[in-house]
Amino acid sequence: MGALDIAGLQDGFRGELLRPEDPGYEDARRVWNGSISRFPALIARCAGVADVITAVRFARDTGLLVAVRGGGHSFPGLSVCDGGLLIDLSPMKGIRVDPEARTVTAQAGVLLGELDRETQAFGLAVPSGIVTHTGLSGLTLGGGINWLMRKYGLTIDQLLSVDLITADGEFVKASASENPDLFWGVRGGGGNFGIVTQFEFRLNPVGPIVLAGPIFWPMEESPNVLRFYREWIAEAPDELMTIVVHRKAPPLPFVPLELHGKLVVSVVCCYAGPVEDGEKAVKPLKAFGSPVLDLCVPKPFLAHQAMFDLSFQHGWWYYMRACDVAELTDEVIDITVDHSLRINSPLTAFPIWQRGGAAARVGEDETAFGGRSAGHTFNITAVTATGEGFDQEREWVRNFWSALEPYHTSVYVNFLMEEGGERIRQAYGADKYDRLKALKRRYDPDNFFRLNQNIGPAATA
Ligand SMILES: Cc1cc2nc3c(=O)[nH]c(=O)nc-3n(C[C@H](O)[C@H](O)[C@H](O)COP(=O)(O)OP(=O)(O)OC[C@H]3O[C@@H](n4cnc5c(N)ncnc54)[C@H](O)[C@@H]3O)c2cc1C
Repeated sequence: MGALDIAGLQDGFRGELLRPEDPGYEDARRVWNGSISRFPALIARCAGVADVITAVRFARDTGLLVAVRGGGHSFPGLSVCDGGLLIDLSPMKGIRVDPEARTVTAQAGVLLGELDRETQAFGLAVPSGIVTHTGLSGLTLGGGINWLMRKYGLTIDQLLSVDLITADGEFVKASASENPDLFWGVRGGGGNFGIVTQFEFRLNPVGPIVLAGPIFWPMEESPNVLRFYREWIAEAPDELMTIVVHRKAPPLPFVPLELHGKLVVSVVCCYAGPVEDGEKAVKPLKAFGSPVLDLCVPKPFLAHQAMFDLSFQHGWWYYMRACDVAELTDEVIDITVDHSLRINSPLTAFPIWQRGGAAARVGEDETAFGGRSAGHTFNITAVTATGEGFDQEREWVRNFWSALEPYHTSVYVNFLMEEGGERIRQAYGADKYDRLKALKRRYDPDNFFRLNQNIGPAATA
């Protein structure tokens, strides 16, 4: 291919335009998952909405394949392409909190930690996600499961409106009162309908101090811990959210030396209410068996939000398969423990999310998001620092996921790898998938936005 003529894009562009020979290109093309390495022909780092419109129209005119990047945390690397144009929204960092109205607007390049930083200054929060360097854009467009979801719902349950640029380069707003069909679709339907440039959310009081953190037991105790856990959470209030993690204990300063590298199970808690109430709620868990480490203490919500950051660092190699299950039955527990005992990499850590609460009380058809009634979400994740040992760990993920197959109920679209159209359909369920396809035909009939968990415009397939 000859040199790309970017004259039509350069004029007035406020952000940066990077071609492979430009300084900064190498950093800008990289995504969070180190196992993905792709080389766009051009990267348009947009400074604002006008840049996004120009970039979309340029791609339309030139026929370039388009990838759209928010935080770059797509597990399968959907936010970067070989050849083509990468529309990079990451410079768009504007955030404005209105503490009186209890709302916040955030631009498309905002990361979760940046949003929390601004909202927590007022003791408020958007329920978002569990790693601060994740992009708000991709997370919200898929749904957004989080530490506060049993109390305040998914990220999309607090979404009030979006600004969006369509495949024609047109600006539209979507909310409950304006383009409500589109608003329904962007709450779970991913980036299929256009590029969201700004999100507006309702805010809720959180912390700033919460009772939160992990309690650890040796992995051999996992069968008993999980059996106790399933009974205990059956009575849990909405304020309490938990995630179970199986892994080798990391060599971090707060982990005693003798635990480093030992297989452990932990239940990580976050109580979104008064600390004293949280202490009562987690007391039975803390008293169960003989925990080897208890880090569930009062702490700033901001600190808790960052607790997994070091476990999911940029540039490491990741592979993940996910599924929802209805219950932690004895069979599900046995499979989980059996496979967890075979974790090889010291970096592999996989969450099992508790679901239910407020997020589950929103009707399945109220937004495009699928699987609201799931009991638990398994995020079976292989992590290695480089390509070394990656294939083996990936095989572990696949075997574990397959063993759970008889118990799969649904799957969260943001936890899909590139698994094909049928899996995307499963993520939404047949009825919602057809509704999403109809919306796609209306907003993006040519499938211009196709590097995503793609909902094709065709009526069939
Ligand atoms: C470390 C880590 C932690 C995570 N934790 C959580 C969690 O707690 N809860 C949860 O629900 N999910 C979580 N996820 C999954 C996460 O929701 C998805 O990976 C999500 O896609 C990340 O958003 P992003 O903007 O960083 O992604 P990107 O890779 O930038 O984008 C992902 C997809 O969204 C599209 N897209 C991005 N921005 C826009 C936009 N503004 N307009 C239109 N399309 C856009 C992209 O084209 C791509 O298809 C996590 C992922 C990682 C890697």
